[in-house]
Amino acid sequence: MEYRRLGQSGLQLSIVSYGSWTTFHQQVDEKLADELMGYAYDQDINFFDNAEGYAHGESERIMGKIFKQKHWERSSFVVSSKVFFGWHGKDNKPNQKGLSRKHIIEACNEALQRLQVEYLDLYFCHRPDPETPVAEVVWAMNHLLQQGKILYWGTSEWSAGQIMEAHMIAERYHLIGPTMEQPEYNLFNREKVEKEFLPLYSSIGLGTTTWSPLASGLLTGKYNAGIPRDSRLALPGYEWLKEKLITPEKIEKVKALQRIAEDIGISLPVLAIAWCLCNPHVSTTILGASKLSQLQENLKAVEVYRQLTPEIRQRIETVMQNNPVLPH
Ligand code: NDP
Repeated sequence: MEYRRLGQSGLQLSIVSYGSWTTFHQQVDEKLADELMGYAYDQDINFFDNAEGYAHGESERIMGKIFKQKHWERSSFVVSSKVFFGWHGKDNKPNQKGLSRKHIIEACNEALQRLQVEYLDLYFCHRPDPETPVAEVVWAMNHLLQQGKILYWGTSEWSAGQIMEAHMIAERYHLIGPTMEQPEYNLFNREKVEKEFLPLYSSIGLGTTTWSPLASGLLTGKYNAGIPRDSRLALPGYEWLKEKLITPEKIEKVKALQRIAEDIGISLPVLAIAWCLCNPHVSTTILGASKLSQLQENLKAVEVYRQLTPEIRQRIETVMQNNPVLPH
């Protein structure tokens, strides 16, 4: 395994990590979750990603049980939670979601209980909350830092401007600003990581824990000829994702990428994850897997990403045609 610093922080994360969105509780029972996390840990993955909203808190509960059973040294792994969506779904009461000081602190305490840990290594604002002043968020996060309940805080799907605002407020009051952002990053979704955040990597030392390297499985080729019954896009409640992801143009690109992967003797998911790892601004890319065989396959990306030569990456660009245009 290879490790990268989370931006300019001292924390080291394995370049691939493991997250449980849609899988734990819904697709993966406790026994399989135990196997998946055990395999990941044995392969030296050291970061496990979670959120209050995943499976109404059940995802964190399952992960917590596994931490307890495994008796891993607490210092050997990094675990996150994210606050914003609440865990009651459509039954959230007004203060059970968002980024008020009240919800940030209560959600942290609840995540600690579910995950059965004394502190969260990483705590993310899962989305920006236009109804809460950013200063309230920064102070609430710093309160948790001071209490030792979280070690680093960050954002997910915030704009560069919103992250800078939080950073400047933190500077003004000698507080700690956001260390990391969790954006989507894959062959279909590049603007934020490759363009929008570019100034922030050097100016504030932003780290990234990027999500959906396979665009929810689209970049495995599994949706080329319809929706397999045991796949994410067949799950009830995820029709919106199917609408967003599957277009004839994208499927054509996936098929062309598949030919490149075949030419170099690797699978398409390995190519797609390896491509993400080639970007040094990716501190870690979070893998999802509903089966052990997926995790086993996908981890090969760690070994092969350095073999994606400029020529291969140019072939990929020629297919994708979505290289963000950078300002001079
Ligand atoms: P991916 O884009 O890698 O999708 C993972 C899914 O693709 C798997 O669950 C599986 O779904 C399918 N898959 C994976 N590998 C293979 C394979 N080799 N062959 C065939 N199918 C495969 O990542 P996720 O979208 O799961 O995101 C990863 C993590 O990122 C999440 O668990 C979560 O922790 C985090 N995340 C954060 C978000 C945020 O807003 N901050 C948003 C989304 C994710 P299946 O078998 O069901 O088809």
